[in-house]
Amino acid sequence: MLTILRHIIQEVSSADNFKDSLDIMVKRIANALATQACSIFLLDRHRGEYVLVATQGLNPNAVRKVRVPINKGLIGLVGEREEPINIDDATKHPRFLHVAEVKEEAYRAFLGTPVIYHRQVLGVLIVQQEEPRRYDESEEAFLVTLATQLAAIIAHAEATGVVSELLVNSTEVKHEQVYSGVPGAPGIGMGKGVVVYVPYDLDAVPDKEPDDVEEELKLLEMALAAVRDDLRLLSERLLPTLPPEELALFDVYQRILDSSDLGDEIANHIRSGNWAPGALRETIQAHVRRLESLDNEYMRERAVDIKDLGLRVLACLQKNDRARPEYSERTILIGETITPTDLAEVPEGCLAGVISIQGSGSSHVAILARAMRVPTVMGVGDTPILELHDKEIIIDGYYGQVYVSPSQSLRVEFERLIQEEQKLDAKLEEIRDLPAVTKDGHRIGLMVNTGLGADISISLAAGAEGVGLYRTEIPFLMRDRFPSAEEQRIIYRQLLASFSPRPVIIRTLDVGGDKPLPYFPIQEDNPFLGWRGIRITLDHPEIFLAQVRAMMRASDGLHNMRVMLPMITDVTEVDEALRLLRKAYTEVKAEGYEIEMPQIGVMIEVPSAVYQARALAKRVDFLSVGSNDLTQYLLAVDRNNPRVANLYDALHPAVLRALIQVVENGHQEGKHVSICGEMAGDPAAVMLLLAMGFDSLSMNASSIGRVRWILRHVSKKKAASLLHEVLGMESAVMIRCHMELALERAGLGDLIRAGR
Ligand code: PEP
Ligand code: MG
Repeated sequence: MLTILRHIIQEVSSADNFKDSLDIMVKRIANALATQACSIFLLDRHRGEYVLVATQGLNPNAVRKVRVPINKGLIGLVGEREEPINIDDATKHPRFLHVAEVKEEAYRAFLGTPVIYHRQVLGVLIVQQEEPRRYDESEEAFLVTLATQLAAIIAHAEATGVVSELLVNSTEVKHEQVYSGVPGAPGIGMGKGVVVYVPYDLDAVPDKEPDDVEEELKLLEMALAAVRDDLRLLSERLLPTLPPEELALFDVYQRILDSSDLGDEIANHIRSGNWAPGALRETIQAHVRRLESLDNEYMRERAVDIKDLGLRVLACLQKNDRARPEYSERTILIGETITPTDLAEVPEGCLAGVISIQGSGSSHVAILARAMRVPTVMGVGDTPILELHDKEIIIDGYYGQVYVSPSQSLRVEFERLIQEEQKLDAKLEEIRDLPAVTKDGHRIGLMVNTGLGADISISLAAGAEGVGLYRTEIPFLMRDRFPSAEEQRIIYRQLLASFSPRPVIIRTLDVGGDKPLPYFPIQEDNPFLGWRGIRITLDHPEIFLAQVRAMMRASDGLHNMRVMLPMITDVTEVDEALRLLRKAYTEVKAEGYEIEMPQIGVMIEVPSAVYQARALAKRVDFLSVGSNDLTQYLLAVDRNNPRVANLYDALHPAVLRALIQVVENGHQEGKHVSICGEMAGDPAAVMLLLAMGFDSLSMNASSIGRVRWILRHVSKKKAASLLHEVLGMESAVMIRCHMELALERAGLGDLIRAGR
């Protein structure tokens, strides 16, 4: 069976297009199972119907025409139950639905399995046969395995818009717009879009309905008058110094402003329902487009003047702080890139979701959103964000989908999912204070990753046994200068005291890469291979020393602090950091603080550190794998690039082998080994990490409950045999499918597809 399976997967993956892959799949499955019919139904979520999209054995003319309502028939039942249904005579089943067009009267035996990807039912795969019979266990397992492969293919096709083309029905009136990105933080968010944008960037100004048209017109008039005055004053001041040809520019600007045309055009856009900055953007962009398309070079250059003028008017309009967004009670924050500051500025309790045009699930803002339990979709690419302001939006953070102006039926469906999620959370809450002990008595530490002051209470509420990673860069990123030593001490003290006596691992500053400090700009061609993490702080010992002194002072009398070094690639970096740490310790101790030399650890997040894990472990007290960066550097896949997000998977066999090596080397030196990348909170990875022998797992607060549940419901023995099986597999897709299937079989499926 395995060889046939592999052949089918190979053939399907090399098909020219999505439709061909479906056709190949149904033919090959029918052959392999020696059954007469095999068909694929895809779920059209907008209409709540399953659509027949490929068949071998049913009426080929019914393809793309036959639609089965989501709650009807055996197809609907498979989707509802989210598990295979195997019946010897389907015609006798109470849910049998006769659909004349498909011509299935002759078929009795029925086996259907749901096609699920990232917690969502995408469709149903069925096989049928004339003679009544039950398909046997191996046939069922075969179909289920192929359904997991099919899921990945459909998900990819959905992300690229091919599925909606296939499902489109010419008579259909589309209710909502749907945009695809990549999952950032799990969960369903419903609310109103609020676009955040860089002030004084005309192209970033969103459309917005004005509250009061007359008021907007007045603001426009005032801004135009202010720019006229500014220009006059400027040209008067520059008169003695500037040559006449340069001064002529001011005349050009004045003439453009004085001609009533420009003002009238903007005013007309305001009257047709846009606020003044949006109307200004519309007008200026139209002029720029027209001028830039002309052959005449002189006129093309005028586009620059118009843009400059537009910016001056915008600056006046934004003077009264109108660039600050108005948050709604259920804010869906939308932006080209969302910064930690953007997240923090939303009033408490009002952030219902985040949509970022750039970035992927491994970007730091996504990690932060997960810590804050805010459903997030990243990398939505070409989405016209300026049009999303103030719109009703649903985001599906499990699946990376954004629904704008959703229909009533879609809302109802998502509300149901939210309720299911709440039920799951309640179940997990019941075991919150129990340790993560496997069925065969193996205990593993469950720690939390934090970085924002606000998530301390969320972490404690999740039942974390300590902090496995405190990202100190977040308070640095949220300021407009380096925090002073005392400001740092206060932040670290609050953290250490809140968790005391539980251990807290504070990581030294890890900026650079995708975390540039606004007040410490670094210009590099390859920031991820450049000046980041420990490299910066060792080059700036004053920054490093100020930080570790603040940490040590903060730990006065608590004795629960550990220090961790990021981005270590070489033992000399550890030696130098240890020298500075000892120096800071001696100094702070001499100041009279009651402290001990903290335990020091190294992050293993680049390939060189994997191969040097033993030498590193000799020097320090613990190792902690940063699987986010380790995956990025081992697979050469930018963790922020949505285009290659499908290649970024910590379950890649190369990453798994690296992890095994780190655990073995760390333990050979008798040191504690943990993992603090996002992988530690991934339900599909948990059993493998357990089997590898990690002493503790550190993850975002929202994952702790699920991981605890999994660990308490499996045995280390079973986990070891799963690890053995996946080490025989050659691709991340296969391994992920295998692990998801194992969770399903262990009755833990709802942890990977909560609410589905
Ligand atoms: C990691 O790389 O896995 C990690 C935990 O660090 P960060 O995500 O902050 O880079
Ligand atoms: Mg890292």
